[in-house]
Amino acid sequence: MASTVDVSGNTVMTTPPNQQSDDAHGYYTLGEKIADTKAPAGPIKDRWTTHKMNNRLVNPANRRKLDVIIVGTGLAGGAAAATLGEAGYNVKSFCYQDSPRRAHSIAAQGGINAAKNYKEDGDSTYRLFYDTVKGGDYRSRESNVYRLAEVSANIIDQCVAQGVPFAREYGGLLDNRSFGGVQVSRTFYARGQTGQQLLIGAYQAMERQVAAGTVTQYTRHEMLELIIVDGKARGIIARDMVTGAIETHLADVVVLASGGYGNVFFLSTNAMGSNVTAAWRAHRKGAYMANPCYTQIHPTCIPVSGDHQSKLTLMSESLRNDGRIWVPKKAEDCTKDPRDIPEEDRDYYLERIYPSFGNLVPRDIASRQAKNVCDEGRGVGPMVGDFRRGVYLDFADAIKRLGEDAVREKYDNLFDMYERITGENPYEVPMRIYPAVHYVMGGLWVDYDLQSGYFVLPNTIREYLADGPFDAIDESHPEVVAARTEVEDRIQKFLSINGTRTVDSYHKELGNIMWEYCGMERTEDGLRKAIDMIRELKADFWSNVKVLGTADSLNQSLEKAGRVADFLELGELMCIDALNRRESCGGHFRAESQTEDGEALRHDDEFAYVAAWEFGGEGGQPVLHKEDLVYTAIEMKQRSYK
Ligand SMILES: Cc1cc2nc3c(=O)[nH]c(=O)nc-3n(C[C@H](O)[C@H](O)[C@H](O)COP(=O)(O)OP(=O)(O)OC[C@H]3O[C@@H](n4cnc5c(N)ncnc54)[C@H](O)[C@@H]3O)c2cc1C
Repeated sequence: MASTVDVSGNTVMTTPPNQQSDDAHGYYTLGEKIADTKAPAGPIKDRWTTHKMNNRLVNPANRRKLDVIIVGTGLAGGAAAATLGEAGYNVKSFCYQDSPRRAHSIAAQGGINAAKNYKEDGDSTYRLFYDTVKGGDYRSRESNVYRLAEVSANIIDQCVAQGVPFAREYGGLLDNRSFGGVQVSRTFYARGQTGQQLLIGAYQAMERQVAAGTVTQYTRHEMLELIIVDGKARGIIARDMVTGAIETHLADVVVLASGGYGNVFFLSTNAMGSNVTAAWRAHRKGAYMANPCYTQIHPTCIPVSGDHQSKLTLMSESLRNDGRIWVPKKAEDCTKDPRDIPEEDRDYYLERIYPSFGNLVPRDIASRQAKNVCDEGRGVGPMVGDFRRGVYLDFADAIKRLGEDAVREKYDNLFDMYERITGENPYEVPMRIYPAVHYVMGGLWVDYDLQSGYFVLPNTIREYLADGPFDAIDESHPEVVAARTEVEDRIQKFLSINGTRTVDSYHKELGNIMWEYCGMERTEDGLRKAIDMIRELKADFWSNVKVLGTADSLNQSLEKAGRVADFLELGELMCIDALNRRESCGGHFRAESQTEDGEALRHDDEFAYVAAWEFGGEGGQPVLHKEDLVYTAIEMKQRSYK
């Protein structure tokens, strides 16, 4: 891609990507290019400040006239409800769990990054920005990432003010540790329970607003449809999961903070309930789905042990600060007790291949290398099928260097969790780990204001609501009636099929297809095959699924049916997106696009764009809109962690 250097010495791309390959030909229609029209210009370090200054304000008296629906009570939705409630808006908050505190965020372990430079190890806002753009393999927007880096320091302050008990050093200052892909220590943590502590902080702040009357909480309510009126999201249709009642909720704005969809793979580290329905319903109503195939595979999870599992468990990334990853050099040693394998027969492969970053290479790289050594027949642990899926994460050196007490102080709950699940004591024998689906980077396409055309995410909600209150609507509005009818019909359809297969069996089969063909490594042939298999599975689902129970009671089979139906559509789109992108970037590894030494090879000249997919209608082809990625403050380079 052509580039010039601007007056500040920054590289500016001048030629938009020109895609030559068309692997997904016949699966999609090409739509108009799109741009992030809200993206501010000017020096990167001033963009957010200037943008905030230019945003309009809503005076406190007017805020009381504005209704906000927030779907989700995790770290995103919980914090948004607390903030908007405190600002004086009328907030309705929804989650499908029995308490906001059960949002999946509670499971986050390792910590939260902020460029505070407390360790004086050379950190800065720019370095966090740089590490993040590089870690994301130059496929994220620079303005958004810079803002993330910039506000990171304030987020820590806010969490501390909410009472989050971050780990502290002996002198009382907040402690930091490292995470993958970086050479500084900037991760703030609360042992291996950071998400839990952060969520409790956000939850308490939200409950304060519930008591103050600004936030009304709807637990065990699942949003099943979005209501669009005159191009704006004005409400949701939700099902009371206990009584089965279908409810209509209207507002001036809808915030979707409904979490990730990693469970499309069935086995993942996500909470069992995490699903795509809220986002997918918005997608079907016109919101674009951006880069749906970008999936993060986490290298340090407890390996799959058989066919019986419904969930995988993460062992926090933070463990790679002190644990050393290795496999035997010789395949014949793989069945030995690891403690009997002498040092010279061990292959610390990450330290060998990536001497600069060692065990702290980014997740995609550590995952792929684990797969490579296991594919070579050097995996450890029990055979699962015809394959040993595991590498060692060994703390013997750390225990020798720091003492067992120090290691215990940092990681005890993680070690305990490992022992409870595997029956092995990691203070005595190395842990066994293997990559698993952890996180998705794709999701609804939003602009710099985090708006997706007609609904918004919280940061810039003020700007959106400055135009409100919007025309009042009631439940008799044709769009409201239509949305409600869609939900009721769909529920009846699920219950009437009365086939022979359980919902879970479809989910599991979909997950196997996704992991096999759209997981850690993807090929053109495999993705084509996956699309055919998913289409067949979807057709079978709609004719042969058995949903037990009735609509007017607690019915988990019915809940899951809706989610799996949406996963089937999402899975197909993910494969089409992966097929289209004939390059490797970060977690998206196309076997056809690698360097001589097997690293991910990007093609900036063809693919430096966000793929934003529009729903093509029932049975129609998805429409691909491309948003060019333009870097002015950072030079696009081939990633290297060597
Ligand atoms: C095991 C694990 C460890 C992690 N560790 C870290 C870490 O150390 N550091 C880090 O930065 N990140 C970590 N992550 C990632 C991090 O946890 C997530 O990015 C983050 O918690 C997502 O927050 P959220 O608020 O967007 O979603 P969630 O916490 O998933 O919340 C989603 C909310 O939406 C609601 N919802 C969804 N759909 C509907 C619907 N249809 N109707 C009504 N409500 C709905 C749910 O009820 C829930 O309240 C980890 C992830 C996992 C899986």
